[in-house]
Amino acid sequence: MKSPRIRNLALLVSLVLFFFPLAISPAQQPGPSGRSGVRTERVARSAATVQRPRLVLLIVVDQFRYDYLTRFGDLFGSRGIGRLMREGASWTDANFDHVPTFTAPGHAVFMTGAWPSQTGIVANDWYERDTGKKVKSVTDDSTRMLAGKQDELGYSPRRLLCSTVGDELRLADGDRSKVIGISSKNRSAILPAGRRANAAYWFSTDNGNMISSTYYFNKLPDWVVRFNNRHTADGWFGTRWDRLLPEPEYLKRAGKDDVPWENLDKSSNDTNFFPHVITGGATGASRLFYKALDYTPFSNDLLVSFAEEAIANERLGADDDTDLLSVSFSANDYVGHRFGPYSQEEMDMTLRVDQQIATLLDFVDSHVGLRNTIVIFTADHGASPVPEQAALMNLPGRRYQQADLLQLVEDGLKARYGRKDRPATDYIQTFSNRGETEQGLLNSNFYLNRAALKRDGIDLDECERAVGEITMQVPGVARYFTRAQLENKAVSPSDPVARRVLHGFYSQRSGDVIVVFEPFSILFDLPDDPTDPHSTATHGSPYSYDTHVPLIIMGRDFAAGSYAQEATPADIATTLAHELRVQAPSCAVGRVLAEAFTNTNRSVRP
Ligand SMILES: [Zn+2]
Repeated sequence: MKSPRIRNLALLVSLVLFFFPLAISPAQQPGPSGRSGVRTERVARSAATVQRPRLVLLIVVDQFRYDYLTRFGDLFGSRGIGRLMREGASWTDANFDHVPTFTAPGHAVFMTGAWPSQTGIVANDWYERDTGKKVKSVTDDSTRMLAGKQDELGYSPRRLLCSTVGDELRLADGDRSKVIGISSKNRSAILPAGRRANAAYWFSTDNGNMISSTYYFNKLPDWVVRFNNRHTADGWFGTRWDRLLPEPEYLKRAGKDDVPWENLDKSSNDTNFFPHVITGGATGASRLFYKALDYTPFSNDLLVSFAEEAIANERLGADDDTDLLSVSFSANDYVGHRFGPYSQEEMDMTLRVDQQIATLLDFVDSHVGLRNTIVIFTADHGASPVPEQAALMNLPGRRYQQADLLQLVEDGLKARYGRKDRPATDYIQTFSNRGETEQGLLNSNFYLNRAALKRDGIDLDECERAVGEITMQVPGVARYFTRAQLENKAVSPSDPVARRVLHGFYSQRSGDVIVVFEPFSILFDLPDDPTDPHSTATHGSPYSYDTHVPLIIMGRDFAAGSYAQEATPADIATTLAHELRVQAPSCAVGRVLAEAFTNTNRSVRP
């Protein structure tokens, strides 16, 4: 079956290996101080050009603003984020280039290297015109949850339209690479891992389990069952969360603890100041407690334990087929929403996630070796200051309620188009969500009722402009973009706000009019689930407090240092594809961050 040429080549290789045993496994040879001086060094260097890292570890901290590195960096330890800052290549001006800057769209960028306009992940949830329903970025009714509630509908990456680095790794080596995503949030576990991933696991606030779906397998691996049987989450019931450092350090960098805008709703059964006692108002481990746990640093501890189990049991990084593990810490985002980016709680979460990352990196070092690993550290978006706090700091902006904006547009459309025979009351499309009917305003996108407009002889483009002009009456609205404008590319890519809107627009999933508020102004909506707390602070804008995030790559082929070149989180996938020598993910538009390559990385490549 083998051609004579291949047979001859195999013979030659065995002869070479016989006479030059040093070449068998150059990576396992001692470093430059090895036995045979010059020759060892040459072999080692050429080996570095062909040997891929054994593990790619993507660490995402949800809502980690870039300035947390500069505001709190001197308080970090030496083995966590501090190690990444010291030993990694760090880009100081990395920004997302899309809106809305939300969790699902952000998490879909890292490993696809593409914007929502290509990944199709335009928000955490959106209205689906075909079915008339509100859908989440990862809901998939053809799957079932594993270890979730009885017969619960599952989640999957089926709405992600592009391949990821993990997908390309597995396509390249016949699925020998393992790809796993882990997070408290389902979307943050599923989207970076990709469509061909081995598994994604996330936390269930219904039962405290780490759960998955039938998209990946029909039953959970034994090690996951064992982990769940230990009920690790329950151990934090009633735990007191206090500051890691004395309060003066927090007063200096994050202001006072007990402030009126930290407006916790009653369901949290907590105070807005330290110490926080974690019960969720329940008398034992239960749904309310598991929801409360999401808002604490202990939820991140749970993820670290689970990630360690994944590395050990799945033998990640154990051989030369590069594996990929994505770990996304969600608790920092929950706490950020509740207390804001200038709060003692968010500062403490940042100091603690540094320690949690240190634990994870130490574990990877002892099991895989950091020398054999590429570690990436980034975030899915930043956060805006709490509007009431911003006002005290003389910043502009205020809080707007979605219902008010909707009412204004409905009234405006009635006034403009309404006649006796044409009441003009149904021009905003309605959608169903958990048995309720919702008006089509979501993620600052208005969805118009095309059938009703046609029925009444109203041109869609004209109505889009009318909706936009009505919203401009609200003092905090900066601009609006219409579907017609975006589909015809009638916006300039050199206008950063327009470009970010364009990068966030996917025709089949986005609305017809997209409203952009002025800096520091925010559109709030009541949560879907009334037991979910209302947000104090949020994110989603095209402004730097939401787009500017850390981007650090630590690996032997990347020169440590600070890089001022413009970069985006989409560059991660493109850079990894280059480094791992695999096909770039299908939609990747990021650039290769070549300024940080060491000489080894630049040398002969296939
Ligand atoms: Zn997020």
